[in-house]
Amino acid sequence: MSTVLNSTRQWQDEDRDHHLHPFTDINVLKKKGARMITRGEGVYLWDSEGEKIIDGMAGLWCVGLGYGRKELSAAAARQMDQLAYYNTFFQTSTMPATELSGLLAEVTPEGFNHVFYGCSGSESNDTVVRLVWRYWDMRGKPGKKTIIGRINGYHGSTLAGASLGGMGFMHAQGPLPLPGFVHIEQPHWYVNGGDLSPAEYGLKAARALEEKIAELGAETIGAFIGEPIQGAGGVIVPPETYWPEIERICRANDILLISDEVICGFGRTGNWFGCETFGFEPDIMTMAKGMSSGYAPISGVMVKDHIVETIGDGGEFAHGYTYSGHPVSCAVALANITILKDEKIIDIVRTDTGPYFQKRLGEFADHPLIGEVRGKGLVGAVQIARDKKSRALFDDVGRVGGICRDHCFENGLIMRASGDSMLLSPPLVVTRAEIDEMMDKARMCLDLTARDVGLS
Ligand code: PMP
Repeated sequence: MSTVLNSTRQWQDEDRDHHLHPFTDINVLKKKGARMITRGEGVYLWDSEGEKIIDGMAGLWCVGLGYGRKELSAAAARQMDQLAYYNTFFQTSTMPATELSGLLAEVTPEGFNHVFYGCSGSESNDTVVRLVWRYWDMRGKPGKKTIIGRINGYHGSTLAGASLGGMGFMHAQGPLPLPGFVHIEQPHWYVNGGDLSPAEYGLKAARALEEKIAELGAETIGAFIGEPIQGAGGVIVPPETYWPEIERICRANDILLISDEVICGFGRTGNWFGCETFGFEPDIMTMAKGMSSGYAPISGVMVKDHIVETIGDGGEFAHGYTYSGHPVSCAVALANITILKDEKIIDIVRTDTGPYFQKRLGEFADHPLIGEVRGKGLVGAVQIARDKKSRALFDDVGRVGGICRDHCFENGLIMRASGDSMLLSPPLVVTRAEIDEMMDKARMCLDLTARDVGLS
């Protein structure tokens, strides 16, 4: 029997001795000990010392409905009692998987009528790669295997996910990306835009795709993948001109367009999906996180009809996961999406809390440490800059963001640092008063950071 642990210290020791954490420096954690999160309610979390924390990141961008929704735990319990598990391989299905598929066809944009399930965004992006390869084989164009992503994009941590993504620090830890995955510039006006207006720069950044296609030959390119807003890369909101031009280039070159909606999907930008906010129509969409508000692991790939038909002509698609369409996860996702619909939460994000959040975030534009404020709906970032006028960043990118993140941690606010951008992505149910509380704390932490680096 394992020992009874009853103090923070004991929990931390046990964790340090046996738990390998994702995206964590093992030796730093060993010295510090993990913060033990014990409870959640609405937009708040509590740790094992009883500290109350306001969660400006909705966990990892996922807890749309906030913590503690009894409808979701009840849906999980009901399904576990009735049928805890059965698979969807070999001509079988379960009721929650079937019902959820119909509901997803209803809430996703026109032309999306089929979903392939996984348990994480990474798994879904791996599925996308398999689908794209199979699709072009079936179309008689087996040369079209290369997939183009973007520098600083994030599509997961599996081999395919990390290869689709453009995170240099991840690639450096492998021989990554795998062959057949290439990357173009990210549409980051503040850093790359120079003297161009955001609209001009949006077109220029999109044309990097056209140049890459010309360089490699359209007959070798199967797909382009991007997040409508690059999330983990720092909430990089592209200029309005970017996505329509990307779509035009994909169509002109017979290249599939994939929208990674893992963060933007299910309301984050004020519409059901980010592609709706940015006005483009992908062929494939990946989604996860907000699909179940993080209450159970589930992800999906929405596939347009023409791709389903093409792949269908090839007999069995030899791909799938034991937990594809897991009935408990599907039951939780069903309950979650039903609440999003019934309580009109996405309408509220679009018309009320989103604009209010952006207004309050916009007030940071005059902060001495902040060069740019970016956002849409209930996701946003403030870009820390050394010199506002020249848009110069600090040389050791990430240091000042780290200082700010530590101040947030000490002051009961979860804000994430991505390089020197400080990110916010609260639960979709956040109220105006809670937005005020987050912004007041964020200002205090930015003030403390500015003082530490001599910019106040
Ligand atoms: N795509 C995007 C856009 C993401 O933000 C993430 C996770 N942050 C993933 C894919 C990978 O999802 P997961 O961690 O569930 O594998």
